Amino acid sequence: MSTGKINFNAGPATLPPEVLREASKAVWNYKNTGYSILELPHRSPEFLDIIEESKALVKELCNLGNDYEVMWVHGGGRAQFAMMPMNFLSANDSAGYMDSGHWAAEAIEYAGYYGKAAILASSKGTKYNQLPEWPSEIPDGLKYIHITTNNTIYGTQYHKVPKTPAPLVGDMSSDIFSCKRDYTKYAMFYAAAQKNLGTPGVALAVVRKDFLKKSADNLPPIFSYRAHVKENSVVNTANVSGIYVALLMLRWIKGKGISAIEEENNAKAKMLYGALDKSKVFIPHVANKAHRSHMNVCFTGINSNIEKAFSALCRDNGIAGVEGHRSVGGFRVSMYNAMPAESVETLVALMNKFETKV
Ligand SMILES: *Cc1c(COP(=O)(O)O)cnc(C)c1O
Repeated sequence: MSTGKINFNAGPATLPPEVLREASKAVWNYKNTGYSILELPHRSPEFLDIIEESKALVKELCNLGNDYEVMWVHGGGRAQFAMMPMNFLSANDSAGYMDSGHWAAEAIEYAGYYGKAAILASSKGTKYNQLPEWPSEIPDGLKYIHITTNNTIYGTQYHKVPKTPAPLVGDMSSDIFSCKRDYTKYAMFYAAAQKNLGTPGVALAVVRKDFLKKSADNLPPIFSYRAHVKENSVVNTANVSGIYVALLMLRWIKGKGISAIEEENNAKAKMLYGALDKSKVFIPHVANKAHRSHMNVCFTGINSNIEKAFSALCRDNGIAGVEGHRSVGGFRVSMYNAMPAESVETLVALMNKFETKV
């Protein structure tokens, strides 16, 4: 560990020590340019190189060809909730949304500002403890169908996605590059960077060219996907340092390889869910094994004393960020790509020890 804390926060999240070291060198003097990465001009050739390399790496890691465009956009995940309908939905149009959790619901709310968000299915009734059942019939004429591939707050994840009758859009903020996935199924996907891909404020957005052609062409450029593509992600002063850290993450991901990352993520999930499934004091929020997230594992204690005691034990052992989101309570352990298996082992050992003492 580079900072001394085992950081299970949901985002901003743990970054690999190699990335932190490289980023700190760049803060002092980026590639001997005499500029800090915090000062580097957004229209410099050095930044253009960062953009080009990052775009190429995203395409390579996603196995995408020239029919896709890659861009970096300001405003994290929520700006994408708004930009999707702004660009693809006018007032009388409908888009289909799967209501699978907190962020899915917020995306639905945002779409409502611009057009109609048809909720195709929802698991709200069971506190989002499973994925909503895929609808057997989907209405005609939807401009797109939006899913949240990993539900960060409730801990469910789509490990399989059916073929959709309208262009599929994925919010992959909390599981991009965490597993092998057929990205060509998606007409568009986006990810706020602070979970699996770097630091807050910047989002990756990838769009298929034929889908982009259907977008509005009368938007203020800063909210227009067309403009972001045309201006090569430099519509205005880009988030230079944020995009640079994302590039470092992309290089790190490529170095490990997605297959190895997936294996490691599966192993971490198996370890933690294994402990929960045999526990007498903790209850996993998601019982359906096929729906469980490998990124965010949510659980509660059998009573509030157990929860308080385990929270204190984590704190005393240098384990941070395990508290559940305020809307669910209990615990949430976020273990994105950069979370080492040994840290999950440490947590599980602590849970086992706790279990024998209560
Ligand atoms: C964190 C998160 C968001 C919100 O991201 P912000 O950058 O805070 O707006 C959206 N979707 C998902 C799936 C997330 O995990």
